[in-house]
Amino acid sequence: MAQEIADRRDIDFVIWEQMKAEEILTNEKFSDFNKKTCEMIITEARKLAIKEALPTLAEGDREGVCFEDGKVKVPKCFHKVHELILEGEWQNLQVPVEMGGQGAPPFVATAAAEYFMGANWSLYSYAAMGNGTAEMIELYGTEEQKKKYIKRLTSGEWGGTMLLTESEAGSDVGALTTMAKKNDDGTYTLTGNKIFITNGEFDLVENIIHPVLARIEGAPVGTKGISLFIVPKYFVNDDGSLGDRNDIVCTGVEEKHGIHASATCSMGLGAKGECIGYLLGEKNKGMRIMFHMMNGARMATGLQALAYASSAYMLAVNYARERIQGRDLSDFGNHEAPSVPIIKHPDVRRNLMWMKSHLDGMRSFFYYMTMCGTKAVIAEKEEEKEMANDMFELLTPLIKDFLSVKGHEICIQAMQIYGGAGYTMDYPVEQYARDCKITSVFEGTSGIQAMDLLGRKLGMKKGGVFMAFMGEIQKTVAQAKEVEATKDFAEKVEAAVNRLGEIAMHLGKKALSLEFKTAFAHSLPFLYAMSDTVMAWMLLWRASVAAPKMEKAGKKDRAFYEGQLKTADFFINSILPETMGKMNAIEIATSAAIEMPDEGFGGL
Ligand SMILES: Cc1cc2nc3c(=O)[nH]c(=O)nc-3n(C[C@H](O)[C@H](O)[C@H](O)COP(=O)(O)OP(=O)(O)OC[C@H]3O[C@@H](n4cnc5c(N)ncnc54)[C@H](O)[C@@H]3O)c2cc1C
Repeated sequence: MAQEIADRRDIDFVIWEQMKAEEILTNEKFSDFNKKTCEMIITEARKLAIKEALPTLAEGDREGVCFEDGKVKVPKCFHKVHELILEGEWQNLQVPVEMGGQGAPPFVATAAAEYFMGANWSLYSYAAMGNGTAEMIELYGTEEQKKKYIKRLTSGEWGGTMLLTESEAGSDVGALTTMAKKNDDGTYTLTGNKIFITNGEFDLVENIIHPVLARIEGAPVGTKGISLFIVPKYFVNDDGSLGDRNDIVCTGVEEKHGIHASATCSMGLGAKGECIGYLLGEKNKGMRIMFHMMNGARMATGLQALAYASSAYMLAVNYARERIQGRDLSDFGNHEAPSVPIIKHPDVRRNLMWMKSHLDGMRSFFYYMTMCGTKAVIAEKEEEKEMANDMFELLTPLIKDFLSVKGHEICIQAMQIYGGAGYTMDYPVEQYARDCKITSVFEGTSGIQAMDLLGRKLGMKKGGVFMAFMGEIQKTVAQAKEVEATKDFAEKVEAAVNRLGEIAMHLGKKALSLEFKTAFAHSLPFLYAMSDTVMAWMLLWRASVAAPKMEKAGKKDRAFYEGQLKTADFFINSILPETMGKMNAIEIATSAAIEMPDEGFGGL
């Protein structure tokens, strides 16, 4: 049987039953799509991902990328599958038709991308990263820039990147030193060095378009003086043909813990003094443009982690069904009793439940965010648009960091289910764990997401957005209270969300007081407590959709729906109490981490 990478029944449940995606399809923007076509697209994406992309996962990992004379070769097995992805235009499903994409509803693109990322994220990202570059040009570029670059980026014919990081400017992008000097013809000459650039150079495309952050000579220090430039690897002539090579080169690739098949490049700009860039948007407004792109990139990173976790979970649950080891606990002492699959052991079941409850909550949360992103654009009423946009903004640090961190933990727990085999490279779970670790680092580390939540997001509209978020949970709680099977869960989720409100107020006040450092030392635990509450909300929502359907469901569906109730039960009764404990700790808000003398950390 082919390895499964995501639970299709669960994806369908979230899309059609929980999120009621058919309502979105009534919008004229998606008039070319109906439920059947959407399902077909997801089915085909799954087929291609499992049949063609998945077999390149381990091979790509072992071979890695090869750097020689400024060129980067991707694993050999990537070439054919990359072509197949581009032929089917799988990389641009949700890109608007005017930009050369297919204009599919974003939830369809999410499902397809979950399959491709779970099969081989490194491979898929070579095809898909051009979309982010194209979107920036669409929003801020001149007509000429749009005509030159967009369609060849979204078609995957050319690659796209994001050049922010420098050796002294990582989390603090404002410290960057790459300089841009204006030329008489209006172009700019750039000089500097960037590091850790994903897909900065690779041999699957004929050209790469680099968006580069740099400071124009004389611009203010910090983020206020940063501009964004389009720096093509090869210049593009007016007729669209490729011209000379630009002075931007890859100077090396990183050896890494995971994503070995993804090229992480150091890039030298202007070693010969001839790196030409074109200003994108207004000067000194580069960070604003980049932030726009970063929201999308942070969502994509959350999905990347979800996809790894989903694949690792599918492997673990199937392994647990097949691996025979030990007797059933009720046969303890009976040496004649047969050995059983490990899925029969209570602790293995607990672990699978821990993984599944997080994974289900994460998937629902991701689709909720996808829907918010969609409604923020297509909703008819202004207040609906605003609400969707507010939720999207508030919850972006959670989708980025919580999914990354829990996704990684799920992969680690999948290794645990495999026992010793999970620690070997004979099985793919250890690769998923290695590959997943990067998600809590790039696109803003955990610490940076937590600062964003406490420092910027909690206070949006004087706390009104956070209140509206609590109101959304309360709506689900009210509905779940009407159903006998979910009433008890609803009361517990209600208690958690009320407590979260108190803690948010408490920490928010502290962040504005003289004890602000202590508040920020608790910002990541707060992000996790809030994320746990979101998980409980999502699982309660799932359970309240499933409960009324159980009676009339056939055997398979009945097990699925019952699974929703059991999963909510598990999370709400065994994880949410831990979350209440985390909230108590945040309320105490010890200042120990701040007051600790630097020498007290030891090791001197
Ligand atoms: C595989 C890979 C691919 C990447 N791809 C790209 C890419 O395509 N384009 C690109 O521009 N960059 C890319 N990056 C860079 C990545 O975004 C940075 O590594 C990341 O933002 C962290 O920066 P840093 O490594 O300099 O760590 P630092 O900024 O030095 O951070 C070190 C630690 O300190 C913490 N920290 C730092 N400042 C603060 C603060 N103010 N408050 C609280 N905590 C703080 C961080 O959370 C982290 O734990 C990539 C990195 C890797 C490893």
